[in-house]
Amino acid sequence: MRTIDDFTRPLEYLSGFERYAGGIVREWAEKEVIPVRRGFDEDWEEHRTIEPAFRKIMGEIGLQRFFFPEDLGGFGLGHSSYAAVVGYRACEEMSRADSAMSVAFGVGVAWILLMITKEPHVNRRLCEEFAPMFCDTTEPVFAVNAMTEPQGGADIENMDVIKGSTIQTTAVLDGDEWVINGHKLWPTNSGGVAGLFGVVCTTNPGSTDPNDFAFIFVPADLPGVTQGKPYQKAGMAADKNSDIWFEDVRVPVWYRAHGPGDDLKYFKEMVSWGNFLSIAFTGGAIINVFELLSDFCSEKTYRGKPLKENDDIAGVLADIATDADIIRIIGYQGARMLDRPDLYGPGWSDEIVTKARAYKYFAADRAVEDVGRALNVMGMHGSDRVCDVEKHWRDLKIVQLWLGGKQLAQMETARWFYECETL
Ligand SMILES: Cc1cc2nc3c(=O)[nH]c(=O)nc-3n(C[C@H](O)[C@H](O)[C@H](O)COP(=O)(O)OP(=O)(O)OC[C@H]3O[C@@H](n4cnc5c(N)ncnc54)[C@H](O)[C@@H]3O)c2cc1C
Repeated sequence: MRTIDDFTRPLEYLSGFERYAGGIVREWAEKEVIPVRRGFDEDWEEHRTIEPAFRKIMGEIGLQRFFFPEDLGGFGLGHSSYAAVVGYRACEEMSRADSAMSVAFGVGVAWILLMITKEPHVNRRLCEEFAPMFCDTTEPVFAVNAMTEPQGGADIENMDVIKGSTIQTTAVLDGDEWVINGHKLWPTNSGGVAGLFGVVCTTNPGSTDPNDFAFIFVPADLPGVTQGKPYQKAGMAADKNSDIWFEDVRVPVWYRAHGPGDDLKYFKEMVSWGNFLSIAFTGGAIINVFELLSDFCSEKTYRGKPLKENDDIAGVLADIATDADIIRIIGYQGARMLDRPDLYGPGWSDEIVTKARAYKYFAADRAVEDVGRALNVMGMHGSDRVCDVEKHWRDLKIVQLWLGGKQLAQMETARWFYECETL
C-alpha cells in the first residue's frame, strides 16, 4: 500500500530538522489525534478532547517555541533558512489528522509571531517581552491575527487597491501608549483561546497612506479586551473563531511591530505565509483522503473485484493521487520561495504575495473537487462519519473561503500576471 511518504518531496533541499519535526508531528497525530478526531465536532465549544492534544504538541513537546530565538528559550526557526519548509511539513502532517488543529497551530505559533521573530525584521525587544509567555510554560499558548472586521475581510487584505482605507479599528497615540478601539470577527484562536493578539489597525481612519497601517500586539488579558463565544461552523471544530472587541485598550507604544510603512510591508509577508500554509492544510487533508479511499477501494468489491480494479473508479483515483502529489510539490515550492529571498525576492513582494494566493486557490479548488469525487466513489459510506472522509469535505471547503476568498486571489493573480490597471 502506498503511503504519505510516496508523494513527492523536494529531497535535494530538505533539512534534517524538517524530517525531525515531521516525525514528531506524525507520531503525535497518529497517537493523540486520529483516534479521537471523530468526536471533535461535538466538542466545538468546550475543547475538552481537543485541548489535551494541543497541550502535548505545543506546550509539552514545545512546538510553540518554534520561532523564538534560542537564547530566549525558542528553537530559533526565525533565524534559519528553512523556517517555512519546516512549518509546511509540520502543518501538512497535522492536517492529515485534522486541518483545524493545524490552522490553530500555524496561526498560534507562527503567523503573527513571524512579524517579530523572523529575519531580517526581528524585533528583539518584543521577542524578549513575549518569549516567556510561549517558552516558559508547558501549557499551550496561542497567538491570533486579528484582521477581519464586520465590514469585510477581503477589503482589508486587498492592500494594493484599498490600501487599508476600510480598516475601522483605530490606534490613537496617547503619551507613550496606544489606545485601541475596534471590533474584529473570525480570527483563528479567538473565542477565549488566545494569549496574544496581533491587531491590524489604522492610525488615521480612511487613509490610504501605508504609514497609517499599524500592527500592534495586545495581550489577551488586558482590560478592555472581550472575546465572544465561538461560532459553530460546518467543520474545523478544533479552531475557535469569534468576535473580539477592543475598548480603550492601552498598550505601550513599543508594542507596535515595526512602525510606519514597515508594519504594512511585513504584514504582506504574513499574507504570503498564510496562503502558503493553507496549501499544507489542504495537502495534508487530501493525502489522508487518498489513504482512506485507498483502503476503501481495496476492500470493497464490485462484481467480485476490488473497486479500484474498475476502470472508471481507477480514473478518479488517479486524478486524486495526481492532485495530492502536485499540491505537495507547489506547497514545498512556495515554502522554499519564502525561505530563499536571496533567489526569489522578499516574502512581502507583490510577486510572492500573488503566487501564494494563486497556489492556495489552485490547491483548495483541486482538494475541494477531489474530496467531492472521493465521496462519489464511496457512495453513502462516504457520508458516514465513521469513514472520516466527510470531515475533510467540510474542513476543506472552509480553507477555500478564507484569506479574502477566491475572488481576491483571482484579482491579485490577474493584476500581477497581466499587469491589469483597473482591477
Ligand atoms: C476557519 C476560519 C479561520 C479564519 N481565521 C482568521 C484569522 O486568523 N484572522 C482573521 O482576521 N480572519 C480570519 N478568518 C476570516 C476570513 O479570513 C474572512 O472571512 C475572509 O477573509 C473573507 O472575509 P469576509 O468573510 O468578511 O468576506 P467579505 O470580505 O465580506 O467578502 C464577501 C464575498 O465578496 C467577495 N469579494 C470581496 N472583495 C471582492 C471584490 N473586490 N470583487 C469581487 N468579489 C469580492 C469575497 O471573495 C467573498 O466571496 C477566518 C475565517 C475562517 C472561516
